[in-house]
Amino acid sequence: MTERLYYQHKLYECEARVVACVPCENGYTVTLDRTVIFPESGGQLPDTGFIGDARVLDAQESGDDVVHMCDKPLEVGADVVVKIDVEQRLDYTQQHTGEHIISGIISSMFGGTNVGFHMAKDYCTVDTDIVLSKEQLDIIELEANKAVRDNVAIITKTVDAAELENYTLRKKTKGLQGEVRIVFIGNVDSCTCCGTHCEYSGEVGAVAITDSMKYKQGTRIWFSCGERAIKEAQNNAKIVASIANRFSTGREEAYNAVVRQGDELSALKRELKKRTDMLFEYKASELVNGAESAGNAKIVVATLDEFNMQELKMLCEKIPQDKNLAVVLLSKVGENVFYQIKTGKNIKQNAKEICLVVNAMTGGKGGGRDDFAQGSCNSNLNVEETLCQLSAYLKKSLA
Ligand SMILES: [Zn+2]
Repeated sequence: MTERLYYQHKLYECEARVVACVPCENGYTVTLDRTVIFPESGGQLPDTGFIGDARVLDAQESGDDVVHMCDKPLEVGADVVVKIDVEQRLDYTQQHTGEHIISGIISSMFGGTNVGFHMAKDYCTVDTDIVLSKEQLDIIELEANKAVRDNVAIITKTVDAAELENYTLRKKTKGLQGEVRIVFIGNVDSCTCCGTHCEYSGEVGAVAITDSMKYKQGTRIWFSCGERAIKEAQNNAKIVASIANRFSTGREEAYNAVVRQGDELSALKRELKKRTDMLFEYKASELVNGAESAGNAKIVVATLDEFNMQELKMLCEKIPQDKNLAVVLLSKVGENVFYQIKTGKNIKQNAKEICLVVNAMTGGKGGGRDDFAQGSCNSNLNVEETLCQLSAYLKKSLA
């Protein structure tokens, strides 16, 4: 059974003896007679650190023991020094204690129950079973920071599970047996918990609610505490300042400036579409007016400069349906050549068949329906030469 020293405030280092060391997939699992390294539990991430010169990458509960995942083997029976990553522990402890404060305030002020907590290396969330408005979240954030400023002592008490019924707590973990830890944060929170907590609420530093969304029947809240909260505030301030700077306006006006630009962009897109439609209609009638005759058939074979597949298709669609008309449009964009084919029902070869001919001439791939086909090739094709060949072929075969 590992003696757990990690609940002692500000104890970041201890001496210990190696009890077991077993190779595993990613290194070695090491068991000690005692440890300051907190194993992952109760939603709190595990400490990392060192045992001797072996790096501790992870720590987990295993029955009565704490099992450390190390990158090097340690000699069984050896006396070693165990150290944790102090900055990381402080960060995790601040987030964890902050979660208690937020959950306690949600419960006492709005009657919400904590139904989930997730701590990641770069964010934390807490889920409650009630819907909270932005205004309510602002109140919770202010109250949480007041609880931090009050700097109340955080008391932990170890009792037998059978005694739990004597306590009124925000949360009692179900099915507990034997010794149970209870955590009290002044009149803000009380619950059973196996995590590490600050000694005083002031050590949380700051609590920032950074985002929220409706989740199941309640609310998911993103928050950060301590230095995380400050760094996030610094980062957000930089983002707002750079947006304001980009729009040559003050920070308070930055949001309105973005909205205004978005509205202007939407209006310009609508105008551009209207004018593109007009231009394509004009271009389509120009192409039809220049059609060459082959017997009863009229043939349009043309190249367009820098028209992508979608634009070429739009132009092809603007050409009015005509039972005697065959249209082949090509466009080269960089190394790609796109083609669109459209045929009326009196044309001897349908669009699909003409497409096979274009595929063969260009080494491209394409296909489609009887009245409409498209394709593309990737080559150093001489488009003008292909156009001449195609025009000659169609004049002959469609006449
Ligand atoms: Zn806790």
